[in-house]
Amino acid sequence: MSRVYNFGAGPATMPLEVLEEARENLVDFHGEGLSIMEASHRSKMYDEVHTQALSLIRELYEVPDDYDILLLQGGASTQFAMVPMNLSLGGKAEYADTGSWSSKAIKEAKIQNLDLSIVASSKESGYDRIPSEINFSDDADFAYITSNNTIYGTQYKTFPTTKAPLVIDASSDIFSYPLDWSKVGIIFAGAQKNAGPSGVTVVIVKKELQDRVKESVPTMLRYKTHAEKNSLYNTPPTFGIYMLSLMMKWIKNRGGIEAIAKLNEQKASILYDVIDNSNGFYRGHAQKDSRSLMNVSFNIKDKDADLEAKLVELATKNAMIGLKGHRSIGGLRASIYNAMSKEGVQALADLMKDFAAKNA
Ligand SMILES: *Cc1c(COP(=O)(O)O)cnc(C)c1O
Repeated sequence: MSRVYNFGAGPATMPLEVLEEARENLVDFHGEGLSIMEASHRSKMYDEVHTQALSLIRELYEVPDDYDILLLQGGASTQFAMVPMNLSLGGKAEYADTGSWSSKAIKEAKIQNLDLSIVASSKESGYDRIPSEINFSDDADFAYITSNNTIYGTQYKTFPTTKAPLVIDASSDIFSYPLDWSKVGIIFAGAQKNAGPSGVTVVIVKKELQDRVKESVPTMLRYKTHAEKNSLYNTPPTFGIYMLSLMMKWIKNRGGIEAIAKLNEQKASILYDVIDNSNGFYRGHAQKDSRSLMNVSFNIKDKDADLEAKLVELATKNAMIGLKGHRSIGGLRASIYNAMSKEGVQALADLMKDFAAKNA
């Protein structure tokens, strides 16, 4: 068997141990004689998986008791609509625009005719940074940020302190560092980047925010519905939740989120060091103080598209895939989520150094 290093932005790489454990249990789950995929979501066998996923998230992410952890479907993109549907009280909704995903969330919220304002944006500078001053109003219904900007490779180092409930799209950096819960109203993420396969969305919602929802909001789109039924109101994405539970177990075995966070810092600095020491051959897209530890987006000098394509091709030949940058900024992007090993990052760094030496 030969596995590639997958630097794709999402769905993204998963640890081999996790895939192997799933394979071992795929057709006969722990001797039950059937696959977890075939099991009723009301069965004892599935219930154990569901409970374990939720309890490992609570334990490892240190989720306080006044928050519910929901396992939903529809991806992070459905949250763009659910957030305003559930949180709007008819007052102001305030957003920070730090890239394509924030813009999509804003577009979706506008459909609901909110009194919406964009309080900070880095659009003018090509989304190369997190705005240094973000001032949300104390009396806003909610304040909205995207913690890690997957395409542009920027990330908040600290969250703004707000009186209004802070909503965080953490699709590309959930479970990658310990959270300061005192700042969080809602945090959500599609699982497919940092937490498992596509099809599951993790939403962690403060209980007190769930009663705001209006009568006109459909049952399936209310946080309260899912919170009251422990994410078993309807059939949850059972197999995805199983994979999520294995991912959480993997994090636990590696020493928890704090240990993972340290490793993430080391991994990112390996790549940023190559960029910074390349005499301008490589240019990081993000300003240094906004650099993402999850997505390293960069160009080759003069945005030389031929050289960039050549590097992507060379990497592919060396079993490193998924490095082509998003079409909106071109260049390259190395996504180095929790599951990407330090060895993988080092292999890419070595290739980049060698390529720069030969093509500078
Ligand atoms: C990938 C991504 C999304 C979209 O997630 P879906 O699950 O595909 O809807 C939203 N926000 C961010 C920050 C992302 O990286």
